[in-house]
Amino acid sequence: MKVLFTGIQPTGLLHIGNYFGAIRNWVELQYKYKSFISVVDLHAITIEYDPREMEDNVFELALGLFACGIDLEKTTLFVQSEVTGHADLTWIFNTVTPLGELERMTQFKDKAKQHRKNVNIGLLDYPVLQAADILIYKGEIVPVGEDQVQHVEFTREVARRFNARFGDTFPECQAELTATPRVMGIDGQSKMSKSKGNFIAVLESREEIWKKLAPAPTDPARVKRSDPGTPEKCNIYFYHQLVTPEPELSEYIAHGCRTAGIGCLDCKRKLLDNLMKVLDPIQERYSDLAARKGEVRDVLEANAETCREVAGRTMLEVKEKMGLRPVWKV
Ligand code: SF4
Repeated sequence: MKVLFTGIQPTGLLHIGNYFGAIRNWVELQYKYKSFISVVDLHAITIEYDPREMEDNVFELALGLFACGIDLEKTTLFVQSEVTGHADLTWIFNTVTPLGELERMTQFKDKAKQHRKNVNIGLLDYPVLQAADILIYKGEIVPVGEDQVQHVEFTREVARRFNARFGDTFPECQAELTATPRVMGIDGQSKMSKSKGNFIAVLESREEIWKKLAPAPTDPARVKRSDPGTPEKCNIYFYHQLVTPEPELSEYIAHGCRTAGIGCLDCKRKLLDNLMKVLDPIQERYSDLAARKGEVRDVLEANAETCREVAGRTMLEVKEKMGLRPVWKV
């Protein structure tokens, strides 16, 4: 089985953009690849954060991922900072990475603008840590959205450079593009995110979600209920495509919108029904897992131990090839 690696930051809240844009895909892929999924807390500290919230955010995210369908037994879900090899390999990769390449990364430029008061080295070095995250497990498959393809290409380049200098060690990983395009926020203006406040959380109740859906913008052409609309111009229709099966999607939603056979509120109610068919089982699993926190902690600890072993073997190989005394212990 090929090795898959992916990571997610502990922002303290899972929203449906995370679920439909990435996690749902990971749940399917975990049966096809040997999967390592990391809660990447070392990435999260490159921007301002509250240390008092970090531990809860990390654990809540792990619970949420398991509730979404990440398999407790099959998939190695772990916390990044529990495995020191990630930082060790980052330092080594730093020495084969030209500064100019990091400065050209789109995400660094965007983040440097967003966090002008804290443009730290970690922000610049983020892609090198990502490369270390993937390659320390000799990851071959990286499931990403289009905005992350540049980072996977960067990781391939790091592997090529290291292999050329010190001998064949790392695979050149492949991006496995998520079928779902980026999920826009409920405002329809920008990508769904916690910081923009335009999210629907995976654990929100039906009532809370309705409060967000009811006033959400739709196709502006539908001023009155009798005005026909164009579903492709409407963010609500995009959400329908994620949860509403055929033929209901084409025959009731799209056709109803074009012919003014349904109103926007009818359409949103149907969306709510179909969305809750996905979220209800997740919320039930979450409640069940939240009542068994000790077991979940044990799984995370065992997974971290597995990762330390794999990472330790890679680091020994790397250090031997680099002429460094292999003192790093598993
Ligand atoms: Fe959007 Fe549905 Fe209204 Fe059409 S009917 S504009 S798809 S909310």
